[in-house]
Amino acid sequence: MKTRSPIVSVLGHVDHGKTTLLDFIRGSTVADKEAGGITQHIGATEIPIQTIDEICGTFISKLKITKTIPGLFFIDTPGHEAFTSLRKRGGALADLAILILDINEGFKPQTLEALNILKMYKTPFIIAANKIDKLFGWEVHENSSFSETFSNQAKSVKQNLDNQIYEIVGKLHKEGFQSERFDRISDFASQVSIIPISAKTGEGIVELLAMLLGLAQEYLTQQLQIEENSPAKGTVLEIKEETGLGVTIDAIIYDGILKKNDEIVLMEKNDILTTKIRSILKPRPLEEIRVSKKRFKSMDEVVAAAGIKIVAPKLDMVVSGSPLRVNNPNSNVKEEILKELEDITINTDDTGVMVKADTLGSLEAIINLLNDLDIPIRFADIGDVSRRDVVNASIVENENPKYGVILAFNVKIHPKAQEELDASNIKLFSGNVIYQITEDYEEWLKKREDDQKKKWLDAIIKPAKIRIIPKLIFRQSKPAIAGIEVSGGTVKQGYILMNSNGDVIGSVESMQDKRDNLNSATKGQKVAMAIKGAIVGKGFEEGDELYVDIPEKHFKILEKEFKNKLTEDEFRILDEIVEIKRLTDSNWGKLGLFEE
Ligand code: GDP
Repeated sequence: MKTRSPIVSVLGHVDHGKTTLLDFIRGSTVADKEAGGITQHIGATEIPIQTIDEICGTFISKLKITKTIPGLFFIDTPGHEAFTSLRKRGGALADLAILILDINEGFKPQTLEALNILKMYKTPFIIAANKIDKLFGWEVHENSSFSETFSNQAKSVKQNLDNQIYEIVGKLHKEGFQSERFDRISDFASQVSIIPISAKTGEGIVELLAMLLGLAQEYLTQQLQIEENSPAKGTVLEIKEETGLGVTIDAIIYDGILKKNDEIVLMEKNDILTTKIRSILKPRPLEEIRVSKKRFKSMDEVVAAAGIKIVAPKLDMVVSGSPLRVNNPNSNVKEEILKELEDITINTDDTGVMVKADTLGSLEAIINLLNDLDIPIRFADIGDVSRRDVVNASIVENENPKYGVILAFNVKIHPKAQEELDASNIKLFSGNVIYQITEDYEEWLKKREDDQKKKWLDAIIKPAKIRIIPKLIFRQSKPAIAGIEVSGGTVKQGYILMNSNGDVIGSVESMQDKRDNLNSATKGQKVAMAIKGAIVGKGFEEGDELYVDIPEKHFKILEKEFKNKLTEDEFRILDEIVEIKRLTDSNWGKLGLFEE
């Protein structure tokens, strides 16, 4: 057994300093030649523990993990898209993450997105509150620790920094995380540490690295144990055409050993590929490139953690984010990967939304999120939105309009697909922030539901009461016409009226106010009403109050679904109506045993 370096990813909103931070970490250690410098991998940079020791000194002297791990393995491509592409079964490839944000700007959509993704993958992380050098009045002390530079700042500057930190603490709290400035943390297991830094001046980087190691010690001791001689496990970063080499893959090996001539198993869009490695390549240090002119050097074998380029036949259909496993006739690697592929891209439910995404990792992230939200998925697939996708969504739409949608993350819409979309009822939700896409869809769903409910509610007969105004009977019958006042609720054309004994009087044929025909009249309105089937003197007289006769079924729906939509006087009248109804049927409107 050996311990490998923890794999670290940097996430955060655009322009908050991800690239600058990675460059600084590389730069400061490259300059430190005495300490041995860094190891360059494909897609990653490894900082040896000795180098970190040189930089951090006393800050990490108490950490036991420095005795076991070889270093920190930073993934070079920052951002949460890269993070989700760097997947492995059951989680993220990265063991740890730095969520960076600009202290002057605070939380932004992609900060939130990154936080959601870290939450989903349960990846331990620290917060780098970057660009402290831009705080008003900040005095720069290049490369010094945060504690040192902070103690040299003016009181108002210190105050300002802490105010910004508490803004961040508040936002994190809303998202379900307890956090604190790293030097005030009482319990590292339950609080996320916030380290104020400047990726430009290097202030606070010492503590940033120290806190990463602390996090590794807290969470990773088991996870980093690998068997040095077991067949390699890895993840494909990218599929790349290289002049002179053909199509190659860049991959990170996180477990075991990979040898030249190994047969490896990879995932294609809809299939599994087995291929034999021709060469394993590592980048050559700059000095060597000058001599040999070749960018890569060939390796016989590499041990995790390693970032490498692989040359092999038939790699062009491999998907980024694909697992990489060494094939072994005695194990079922192929079946495992096939199962994994099916788990991700299966036609999950009989009905549901369509999902398209750019990589396996982002696809998996959306699927996880939709599962959490209980939104069923019919198709999930990598690639641009095609005409066929729209046609498939239309089939679903026919059966269930609310799922006639396509959720598309970071992919293009084919022109033919756009034509089909324009001609159909399919709604497209697209963008490059996952939770924004699902949130937009949920919002649309809610609006649809509200509109439907409103239509439904409009169709339901609601309680109302009228009074026949004395001395305003215009006609006795066929139809009876009288002046009435609406004493509560809204009466509509077609409603059936009953008296206070529950006897049906007739139905509202028409209403007029100063010669205008009305479809409905509400509380306080006085109108002339023609009541079909009614005869004045038979069941009612002038001065009487009449009620809307609510069908029992409508009453039950009102009770169950729309009680909160009734006004206070409608509510009162409904009670009166129930009382009247129960004069003749004591069970009227009561929910049956199976209706709940
Ligand atoms: P990314 O999009 O997150 O990778 O952000 P970059 O690293 O490209 O940084 C965006 C801009 O912010 C660049 O102009 C950087 O020079 C600048 N920047 C990054 N970190 C700092 C910092 O700590 N202080 C200052 N003053 N500028 C910074």
